[in-house]
Amino acid sequence: MPYRDSFDRPIEYLRISVTDRCNFRCVYCMPEEGVSFIPHEEVLRYEEIIRIVRVVVEMGITHIRLTGGEPLVRDGIVDLVAELEKIPGLDDLAMTTNGMLLERFAEPLAKAGLRRVNISMDTLKPERFHKITRLGSLEQVLKGREAAIKAGLCPAKVNTVVIRGLNDDEVVDLARLTLQPDWHLRFIEVMPLGEGIHWADDGVVPSTEIRAKVEAALGKLTPVHSSSGIGPARYYQLPGAQGTLGFISAITEHFCYACNRLRLTSNGRILPCLMSNHSIDLRTPLREGADDEALREIFKKAILSKPREHHLAEHTVPECMLPMSCIGG
Ligand code: SAM
Repeated sequence: MPYRDSFDRPIEYLRISVTDRCNFRCVYCMPEEGVSFIPHEEVLRYEEIIRIVRVVVEMGITHIRLTGGEPLVRDGIVDLVAELEKIPGLDDLAMTTNGMLLERFAEPLAKAGLRRVNISMDTLKPERFHKITRLGSLEQVLKGREAAIKAGLCPAKVNTVVIRGLNDDEVVDLARLTLQPDWHLRFIEVMPLGEGIHWADDGVVPSTEIRAKVEAALGKLTPVHSSSGIGPARYYQLPGAQGTLGFISAITEHFCYACNRLRLTSNGRILPCLMSNHSIDLRTPLREGADDEALREIFKKAILSKPREHHLAEHTVPECMLPMSCIGG
């Protein structure tokens, strides 16, 4: 049975950032230049991550997602997946990736025991893709998505951050993809984290606005239950669609009442809430020889310190808020 926080929410999901490094520099996430990365010795080692996952699985945190930064740029990531998969009681092991290296990694990851991937893709226009990611290739990401599906990493959901003036003119074209088999897409409101702070006011496109645009062009959306994932998205289907369309509205319709997660940064800090800079150091006690019981106590403390809700819409996020690349968005 999972532990419950002070507001009786069961905590069963941990997102682990395995690195803060990334092969993209998305305009709403990281600056183009001058990024200072966490020194290697401060980044959690794989054996430390494996031990942490063993400890939390015993506490009922049975869903793990590897993220970053870009998880596929960290050496040995397939071996990490293979070791995590062996942990008894782990129900779900997933990854969020930008897809750039997925063509090469999809099959080895699936063989190692990864269940599914979420792939970030904000546009269907190759030039715009390059402009948003600064270093990415849409063609390569689409090949990565195909490889993921072929390898059985399904559903391979696509995450699209929608920003006014940047890609909001494409929401209908993107939504239309879900008429085809194997296309599951989620629209995400941009959050004032990292470089996203520049779009905190004018850039947010409320999910209700996207829904209205999509329905006007493609027909009424019917709410559906997602068979995979225990996350914050609300899912729908277009008339005749084979795939699903999700909306993650962290700003305009927050879902804190159902928050079931903790985050672990690449340098070993537990974040009880994505939208707060309150974090708890796990790495120091881990490296100073804490036993499993002591680690569990630290996680219990983190669970009990989860706030009832965030206040993003009121722009009360502290300026020192970490970028998503470090937090593991
Ligand atoms: N590199 C991987 C990827 O691109 O999916 C994993 C890490 S990335 C930080 C995780 C997700 O966070 C991506 O879907 C990305 O688009 C999203 N993200 C980053 N900054 C964001 C922001 N300011 N607001 C909303 N989503 C953001």
